[in-house]
Amino acid sequence: MNKEKRTLIFQRFSQENPSPKTELEYSNPFELLIAVILSAQATDVSVNKATRKLYPVANTPEAIYALGVEGLKPYIKTIGLFNSKAENVIKTCKALVEQHNSTIPETREALEALPGVGRKTANVVLNTAFGQPTMAVDTHIFRVSNRTKIAPGKTVLEVEKKLLKFVPKEFLIDAHHWLILHGRYTCLARKPRCGSCIIEDLCEYKDKVE
Ligand code: SF4
Repeated sequence: MNKEKRTLIFQRFSQENPSPKTELEYSNPFELLIAVILSAQATDVSVNKATRKLYPVANTPEAIYALGVEGLKPYIKTIGLFNSKAENVIKTCKALVEQHNSTIPETREALEALPGVGRKTANVVLNTAFGQPTMAVDTHIFRVSNRTKIAPGKTVLEVEKKLLKFVPKEFLIDAHHWLILHGRYTCLARKPRCGSCIIEDLCEYKDKVE
């Protein structure tokens, strides 16, 4: 795909949705970090249901750490993999209190050192909480990048690096949200809605569905 097409694609995303947001509910970087840890292999809807009950009771590293693993589980038990997530969230809160003065670190290295935080989670926090032009490639972004040929790649990391290189600079901050939303609601895994896709004429997918 050439540069002009990529620019046109992101111009259309931008016109349609000038301020794209994550669908996870949060009011500060700590709440976002915990929501992203909880969202691994789970839907944002299920995470929001849990955090709507949890955050009014505990929304600081100290408060969640004080709940302990067993105290946290009842709030998150409807989310997949809640046992291991409860362990990781408590360990992460402990590390934040003891090593980071209860603040959220703003570097990839420090974020990835937290239990339950991998490259994708660090990318989401750096982008969404701190405005850094990172690209958290999830299953939706991976699919859309490959189908459209915006940034084709065999691995998540390859797609991430290509997106960082090819997405026009002015769209880098928001690209991750536009691509997720496009994959979630239009470029669906089984049956993409090409007939109602705003970038259909620019997309280079060979098996478009009408
Ligand atoms: S035209 Fe179809 S395959 Fe291409 S981005 Fe749109 S929905 Fe996805």
